[in-house]
Amino acid sequence: MTSPSPTPLRDTFGRQVTYLRLSVTDRCDLRCTYCMAEAMTFLPRKDLLTLEELEFVAKAFIRRGVRKIRITGGEPLVRKDILTLFGNLGAALGQGLEELTLTTNATQLAQHADDLARAGVRRVNVSLDTLDRNRFEEIARRDQLAQVLDGIHAAKAAGQKVKINTVALKHQNADELSDIISWCHEQGHDISLIEVMPLGETGEDRFDQYIPLDLVQQKLETHWTLDPEEKTDPLAGPSRYFRIRETGGRVGFITPLTNNFCTGCNRVRVTCTGRIYMCLGQNSHIDLRTPLRESTDPEKALDEALDAALFAKPERHDFAIRSPGEAPSLRRHMSVTGG
Ligand code: SAM
Ligand code: SF4
Repeated sequence: MTSPSPTPLRDTFGRQVTYLRLSVTDRCDLRCTYCMAEAMTFLPRKDLLTLEELEFVAKAFIRRGVRKIRITGGEPLVRKDILTLFGNLGAALGQGLEELTLTTNATQLAQHADDLARAGVRRVNVSLDTLDRNRFEEIARRDQLAQVLDGIHAAKAAGQKVKINTVALKHQNADELSDIISWCHEQGHDISLIEVMPLGETGEDRFDQYIPLDLVQQKLETHWTLDPEEKTDPLAGPSRYFRIRETGGRVGFITPLTNNFCTGCNRVRVTCTGRIYMCLGQNSHIDLRTPLRESTDPEKALDEALDAALFAKPERHDFAIRSPGEAPSLRRHMSVTGG
């Protein structure tokens, strides 16, 4: 007799969760001004799920119908032996899991691109907010642009499809976005522009950083023709994509503030400490680490915790950046939940 197939992860609004973002560390070798403060207190290592626990959690999601897993952080590639996790999850590709991907700042991608490709990682998202070395150092608080560009080239050489993520920043790169897009398209990379979100104290005023992407789009349309693209991939994220006629490449707009995209939300996030956040923009979460570590039947306990989490998935986020000096909507940094 075959065992009944496990129930898919469906929330009370009828949305099925098929996409997991799994954060493997809160640490990072950069300190991007919209993401972290210069002086960060990182979690004690004992609080982090081990690589085996991360794999156990990921596989529980795959059994419940998750088809895409993105490894994120913090910076995933700073976690020791992280390639082991990629290797073990890569083995699940074609057996429930359809895609294993990574979001990285690429400072260490050059060393790992071939191994990631061997593990089955076909696409990587790389954060890149400027092509200017001085600006990079200003934005990331570290002088690492050359390493990032090497990482991007190595991923391309390893046969990976690279997508660039660029946070639009009013004073630091808004005037450079056309150049970044042109560069991406020359290199054959898609790019998504992202509105800065009010997550965690960074020592910077988000009001000074935030620029609505509808303004950016209007500016791009003064010299380019943007043709909207149909959404064909059901696992695709919240980007609204356009193809630029003049460059032939694609640009996406991720607009959590100006254009709420929660209706089609198919994802949840698990932190490196094993908390499941059902929405990036809300504080509700459920602890998976305790059932995992303390239950005599962790598989069953995890399943029950996932059911409870899905029942509590909120309908939408309520981010806002309204005035100078405003405290962030959430005290949690993006690097904790995983971007
Ligand atoms: N370190 C990796 C990286 O930078 O790609 C992965 C983690 S990072 C938190 C994931 C994504 O979140 C990056 O593209 C980053 O630009 C974005 N991000 C971080 N803080 C953000 C914020 N406050 N608002 C919007 N995007 C943010
Ligand atoms: Fe690190 Fe990524 Fe946050 Fe930048 S955005 S500080 S690279 S985690």
